[in-house]
Amino acid sequence: MTDAAPITAYIGLGSNLDNPHTQITRAFDALAVLPDSKLVARSPLYRSRAVGPPQPDYINAVAALHTRLPALALLDALQGIEQAHRRVRKQHWGPRTLDLDLLLYGEHTLDLPRLSVPHPYLSERNFVLYPLADIAPTLVLPDGRSLAALLEHCDRDGLVPVNETELTTGAVSGTHL
Ligand code: ADP
Ligand code: MG
Repeated sequence: MTDAAPITAYIGLGSNLDNPHTQITRAFDALAVLPDSKLVARSPLYRSRAVGPPQPDYINAVAALHTRLPALALLDALQGIEQAHRRVRKQHWGPRTLDLDLLLYGEHTLDLPRLSVPHPYLSERNFVLYPLADIAPTLVLPDGRSLAALLEHCDRDGLVPVNETELTTGAVSGTHL
């Protein structure tokens, strides 16, 4: 690690195949061991209705990392975790074992061929905004919009907190680490 101050990055997690709860729990574990990074918060899990073609419900969550990885190196690492979960991309917005999106990378705004941050759909997806608010209620986006203001225009349609008893693993959710 260098001496530079770490960046707070927020990662959106989603899964709707091959035991989604376990996929998300393992993804949190994988984020916890990323190099030059520290997992500082994991949101509770939510069930959400899928966007796109008919497919099973998703399990979603958001993680907060303190990281010294450059943004593209972090994206590489996230894609490495997706691959390790044997994600197969067959269809745009189709079902997947694991989707990891870089929602925010500190205050940075990036528009690169492989990476747009803040994530383009961040401000309109309830399955991102509600778990994000659970772990970062006072967050303000780089464009100055507050998470609280975005939530006022985002209903909870189809978004249901996952009951702990639904979990088949011993994972603890909603904890700050
Ligand atoms: P989606 O998440 O929109 O359903 P994918 O996960 O298949 O789609 O991502 C497609 C591409 O999006 C990736 O190859 C990646 O390079 C690009 N991408 C651009 N911005 C981001 C971001 N903020 N987080 C993750 N991937 C991103
Ligand atoms: Mg993605």
